[in-house]
Amino acid sequence: MKPAAFDYERPGSLEEATRLLAVPGIFSKAVAGSQSLGPMLNLRLAQPELLVDITAIAELRAVADQRLHVEIGACVTHADIEDGRIPDVARGLLRFVAGRIAYRAVRNRGTIGGSLAHADPAAEWISTFPLLGAEVIACSRRGTRTISAENLMVSSFITVLAPDELIRAVRVPKLSAHARWGFCKLNQKAGEFAHAIGAVLYDPQDARFRAVIGAIETTPIVVPDAAKLFGGPFSHDIADRLDEHAVSETLDAKGVKDQYNRQIALVALKRAARQAGAA
Ligand SMILES: Cc1cc2nc3c(=O)[nH]c(=O)nc-3n(C[C@H](O)[C@H](O)[C@H](O)COP(=O)(O)OP(=O)(O)OC[C@H]3O[C@@H](n4cnc5c(N)ncnc54)[C@H](O)[C@@H]3O)c2cc1C
Repeated sequence: MKPAAFDYERPGSLEEATRLLAVPGIFSKAVAGSQSLGPMLNLRLAQPELLVDITAIAELRAVADQRLHVEIGACVTHADIEDGRIPDVARGLLRFVAGRIAYRAVRNRGTIGGSLAHADPAAEWISTFPLLGAEVIACSRRGTRTISAENLMVSSFITVLAPDELIRAVRVPKLSAHARWGFCKLNQKAGEFAHAIGAVLYDPQDARFRAVIGAIETTPIVVPDAAKLFGGPFSHDIADRLDEHAVSETLDAKGVKDQYNRQIALVALKRAARQAGAA
């Protein structure tokens, strides 16, 4: 199928892009890598009157390496991260995750901002950035605001972003040299979206011990104090200490009823814990 007709603009500045997105009476949408929006246009699930291509905005491809965090522009692609073109302040986690998204052709064009804004529950970044305690910087004609990555997603394919709001960058806090992580994407064949994601992060510098269960529910399940899932603080044998009852309670609290989803969530979390413990 072919998309319905639309107008197309490719502004060179954020100011112009946010102005175009805010024109009253016109249903406009930003487009970055077009890896999700493209199929939606073709299927006519989305029929915007105007597409605002944001890939010519230099600011959205910029990376700012600060003392405590790195700010990654929204139009940085998965391949940019996979290939190490940006500093991986998360001790290899960002590269590990990026390299497992879809296929190389998709990673060459798909962007972190597009992935977050699209908010597919099965996508990687929507689970990874909350694990890291990252923040999303959004901007519109009304100004700039910072949203915790954990609070970005409201439900499947729905975020707190206003229709005229753009993600400018993602602010990722730096991990210490002693930090450990594990990330498990469960799928049946390479290149497929996740059926479940389990992720564990431990950083002794600030006693951060977090876990995320993703892709089985509408929004990722973030556990800020992962000690409760493992019956105590981080240690190398945490995978063996995973408390299935505590995981079950966490899933209950989020309303996860499907037995298959509950089981694969447990498996993904255990594998992530094993990786973190072995790191
Ligand atoms: C075959 C295939 C397999 C895939 N497999 C996976 C997978 O395994 N894991 C995974 O995580 N992803 C997967 N994806 C998704 C892909 O990785 C892209 O990240 C995703 O399509 C969105 O990025 P994009 O830049 O292409 O966004 P686009 O398609 O251009 O846009 C998507 C949505 O985000 C909005 N948007 C884009 N940029 C911004 C911005 N800066 N601010 C606000 N709104 C914005 C658009 O308006 C649109 O609503 C797959 C895609 C395909 C086609």
